[in-house]
Amino acid sequence: MKLLVILLFSGLITGYRGNSSHSLPSKLLLVSFDGFRADYLQDYEFPHLQNFIKEGVLVEHVKNVFITKTFPNHYSIVTGLYEESHGIVANSMYDASTKKRFSDFDDKDPFWWNEAEPIWVTNQLQENRSSAAAMWPGTDVPIHNTTPSYFMNYSSSVSFEERLNNITMWLMNSNPPVTFATLYWEEPDASGHKYGPEDKENMYRVLKGIDDLIGELVHRLKVLGLWENLNVIITSDHGMTQCSKERLINLDLCIDNSSYTLVDLTPVAALLPKINITEVYNKLKVCDPHMNVYLKEEIPARFHYQHNDRIQPIILVADEGWTIVLNKSLSKLGDHGYDNSLSSMHPFLAAHGPAFHKGYKQSTINSVDIYPMMCHILGLKPHPNNGTFGHTKCLLVDQWCINLPEAIGIVIGALLVLTTLTCLIIIMQNRLSVPRPFSRLQLQEDDDDPLIE
Ligand SMILES: [Zn+2]
Repeated sequence: MKLLVILLFSGLITGYRGNSSHSLPSKLLLVSFDGFRADYLQDYEFPHLQNFIKEGVLVEHVKNVFITKTFPNHYSIVTGLYEESHGIVANSMYDASTKKRFSDFDDKDPFWWNEAEPIWVTNQLQENRSSAAAMWPGTDVPIHNTTPSYFMNYSSSVSFEERLNNITMWLMNSNPPVTFATLYWEEPDASGHKYGPEDKENMYRVLKGIDDLIGELVHRLKVLGLWENLNVIITSDHGMTQCSKERLINLDLCIDNSSYTLVDLTPVAALLPKINITEVYNKLKVCDPHMNVYLKEEIPARFHYQHNDRIQPIILVADEGWTIVLNKSLSKLGDHGYDNSLSSMHPFLAAHGPAFHKGYKQSTINSVDIYPMMCHILGLKPHPNNGTFGHTKCLLVDQWCINLPEAIGIVIGALLVLTTLTCLIIIMQNRLSVPRPFSRLQLQEDDDDPLIE
């Protein structure tokens, strides 16, 4: 017994030591395929991605942040913050105090990014580590005076192949080692806008192309010997919904556009009134039944989209599939940016590697939960954030987790065992007590036989 206790105790100590002193730090590659709507996974075939999931984990729906646009959501993934807290509140922004503007094409001023610290910066502040980025919004900007040690200036014309070549080279041959890396690809967002997600024929072709890229990624990691020790997360920033020229909201029919500065247009418009704010608000309020009009202070709390100077005094939120325009026709058949409670706006998350379970599926997490999970994998102390580490525990091998269905199953199982045992005891007692007079009679008969013999 003594020996057993000693053995168990020493086993625990070694086990603990084994987990805490990593000779090699954990490595993580974070991949985003822009605009990969969660239910594409059910509606189309992805043989390579499904193989990846079979040996890893899948979160079917990631509830992202409002507004469901590219820059804000990519920054929430790497900071764990809602948009009002990290400051990238749209793809097009205006700061009234400095009169600065931000857009997809003019995003390099650190001013916009410095309200938060993304994980690639935090990772480099730890001893002997570096980060690398084959693109991701913000990775080519010196945020808090720091870029990733290895990065590419953003250009949509650089091929996936070249991005993949760079990121794998950096993951293999750098000193200090690259422990956190990002890889970004513009599809299926670009095609989703162009064709609309309901164009099955074109989307089938585009999504097959995405699956082939995932196949190429996994193949390359295997060939280079990176696959076994690397944690890989494949996710996205938002989904996509179908738009139509039948569903337009023309602001020019409601209000003269010289009475406000338009900062962003659709599906969430941001307006800075030039005249009396109430006057602008009252005209817009009755403009179209398919658009919600909010003064900044009335924006619903569930959006977590209010407490930042870059959020304009009036915002307009179009209903799903509706497009806000200024006297112009519809330019795209698919869009995103809508209410983040719409499932069409959600992406998915799949992950594979030594940190993750194999073959585990979970229905949902929030996109802000990804940050504390990544910090845990990398052994980084997370900055204050809006995510909940507990939501991702079931995905991770080093965490004890019990989810609701399992808990219900255990309780029902325990009740069944107890009921069965109780029934058995009752039956046994009845058998022992009720047939006694009869058995005594039998005994008497039986008893006779040997006596006769
Ligand atoms: Zn887009």
